[in-house]
Amino acid sequence: SEKKRVCIVGSGNWGSAIAKIIGNNVVAMSDQFHTEVRMWVFEEMINGRKLTEIINQDHENVKYLPGIKLPTNVVAIPDVKESAKDADIFVFVLPHQFMRNVCKQLQGGVKPTAVGISLIKGFDVKEGGGILLITTVVREVLNIPCASLMGANIANEVASENYCEATIGCKDPKNGQLLKTLFQTKYFRIVISEDEDTVEVCGALKNIVAVGAGFADGLGFGDNTKAAVIRLGLMEMVNFCEVFYPGSQQATFLESCGIADLVTTCYGGRNRKVAEAFVKTGKSIEVLENEMLNGQKLQGPPTAYEVNYMLKSKMMEDRFPLFTAIHKICKGELKPDQFIECLKNHPEHM
Ligand code: NAD
Ligand code: 13P
Ligand code: CA
Repeated sequence: SEKKRVCIVGSGNWGSAIAKIIGNNVVAMSDQFHTEVRMWVFEEMINGRKLTEIINQDHENVKYLPGIKLPTNVVAIPDVKESAKDADIFVFVLPHQFMRNVCKQLQGGVKPTAVGISLIKGFDVKEGGGILLITTVVREVLNIPCASLMGANIANEVASENYCEATIGCKDPKNGQLLKTLFQTKYFRIVISEDEDTVEVCGALKNIVAVGAGFADGLGFGDNTKAAVIRLGLMEMVNFCEVFYPGSQQATFLESCGIADLVTTCYGGRNRKVAEAFVKTGKSIEVLENEMLNGQKLQGPPTAYEVNYMLKSKMMEDRFPLFTAIHKICKGELKPDQFIECLKNHPEHM
């Protein structure tokens, strides 16, 4: 039939929130979509029960999105290849460090006519000093087109149906429209941008800036300092796109994927929260991630590493001093208070 079958690859905090939206939308548009939505769940035991069984029987992801009912047509599947069977649309929503491995498991098991969309924020590290976009990994490993969806979307707020916006980065207008139909609701409003690399890069880089915002909070600086972190971070994001993704449009930074995601993450996100605690407690990022997030994953510190890995190999660290300082502070190579020196000496003022 022509009805599209959707597979959601991932089921964490954001994966579960998006499963609620997609599950409801496919039922409302059952002329266009199969109503069963398969969701791959990385299996784990919770109080003696499998998480897939809890989701399929109680319709709630009690660990990663507690308190939110999932539509009953969202079916949790522990085997990733099984979840992908016959799917026409793949929604990738995992912590980015697991993506290449999961993609490899799907290799050979994906319809050649399928399309993908990545909700994942981060980069893939390439041997020899480079980084790849996550959508590039999908295109290369699975040989299907892949768009991205990025925006100011703290998962718990979206799951509560608070008004918000997102950007779909997609060069192909037909796929863009199909994907918009799948995601948009009355409270979750979507703009399609053809500037797809910029959309995706914004989503990845803002998590580095959010770590910086958390450092400033942890050091006891106020809202003016945080606004400066956001502004200088945005300048580095713009410069990064100009240098490494030529042709990027400045207007894209005014979409939800740009300035809006930066603001929400620097005030309300997990990266900010853990970075603040890092300064206040002196514990490592890894220890705090485990203590504070109950299995959810930080994307900012590994993204800062990935970006630094690339910048260092090109001897361009000093052109992105904020990204560089944030990485070095996470690794313990610089003291947190050096972050303020980095702001004071930023080339934007020189
Ligand atoms: P999360 O932070 O809740 O991460 C936990 C998930 O990772 C769980 O599903 C867990 O089973 C899974 N996991 C743990 N170990 C794994 C492994 N070895 N292999 C595969 N999976 C494993 O995840 P999330 O919040 O859904 O984030 C996914 C992506 O969405 C990230 O790139 C994030 O930046 C992005 N995002 C998150 C939010 C948010 O508010 N949570 C909002 C927008 C975008
Ligand atoms: P955190 O991962 O810092 O919570 O940010 C979530 C997000 O990407 C909001 O759009
Ligand atoms: Ca430009």
